Amino acid sequence: MSTLHLPSVLCATTALLCAFPSQVCAWADQGHTAMWEVAQSLLTPQAKQRVDAALAGDKLDMTAVWLDRVRDVGKNEGPLVGDAEAADFIKAFPFHFTWHYVDMPLDVKSYQEATGFTTRDDIVQQINLCIAVLEGKSTKFDARTALRVLVHLIGDIHQPMHCASGFFDVTDTQHPVLRTDPASCLPLKKEKLEDRGANQLFFGPEKYDQMHALWDFELVKRLAGLKNLTKLLQDALPKINTTTPGDLHAWAEHWAGESVALAKEAYAGIEFGACTLNTTGKGPKIERIEVKLTADYIDKQKTVAGSQLVKAAARMAAVLNAIWP
Ligand SMILES: [Zn+2]
Repeated sequence: MSTLHLPSVLCATTALLCAFPSQVCAWADQGHTAMWEVAQSLLTPQAKQRVDAALAGDKLDMTAVWLDRVRDVGKNEGPLVGDAEAADFIKAFPFHFTWHYVDMPLDVKSYQEATGFTTRDDIVQQINLCIAVLEGKSTKFDARTALRVLVHLIGDIHQPMHCASGFFDVTDTQHPVLRTDPASCLPLKKEKLEDRGANQLFFGPEKYDQMHALWDFELVKRLAGLKNLTKLLQDALPKINTTTPGDLHAWAEHWAGESVALAKEAYAGIEFGACTLNTTGKGPKIERIEVKLTADYIDKQKTVAGSQLVKAAARMAAVLNAIWP
């Protein structure tokens, strides 16, 4: 795989006092929108016609982040509060908020191997459901909803922290121990002793000094500045192998497997410090673990992030072109 040629960044790893939006979501809104814009330029005429007809005038950004905005409704936030279509969707699919991810242990080699960590409402199952709807094999929802969900989730599944989680032995809270093999992680999962896709890993004191947010927003921002993202992805497209082997219906599993492998690399070398437990619920849960990232973390991982954004864009188009050749 060729590497992306990205502008160099002259920044200290942990000095990330950037202004985050109130709601940080995978790849940021700009990442999702840029991927969908690039994907649309790669559609066959037949696929483009079917997509345009199904979306019925949806704006670019609304298709790409509709599922995140639906999630905001639960907090009474965002443009879809009061939207009848969103309200119907939430009523019909109350577990939609889990569709964005699957928390697999870092040593899992494939989605099929992750028994006990996968669910009917995880990202792989929902991508496959959307494909079935667009193929006319399921009537779970309409084509417009299927496209909105599919496009968003193909973006999310390429964010490594959306396919993996760190599970921790916190017997000694000053020295939490990361567990990566599925057998050791399963009892920890039952006790909810996980970092929830690196959401509980903090490299600084601020709310968004958090490893998941670093991937969702900061790495994307560091690639080219958010405004130039579409062009960056377009330019990088010919340099990256975006093909997925095998049958369309197994692609999502393949992408989840790729992402968990990248997540494993992204956890390598991180030092885990004190763990704070939240003991207000049924059992203790990990509230935060202080971490120290490696000095080259951002420079190294922003290249991975860029490559994943390009792959996701090309693969959105590949799925739709396979359904409507
Ligand atoms: Zn999402």
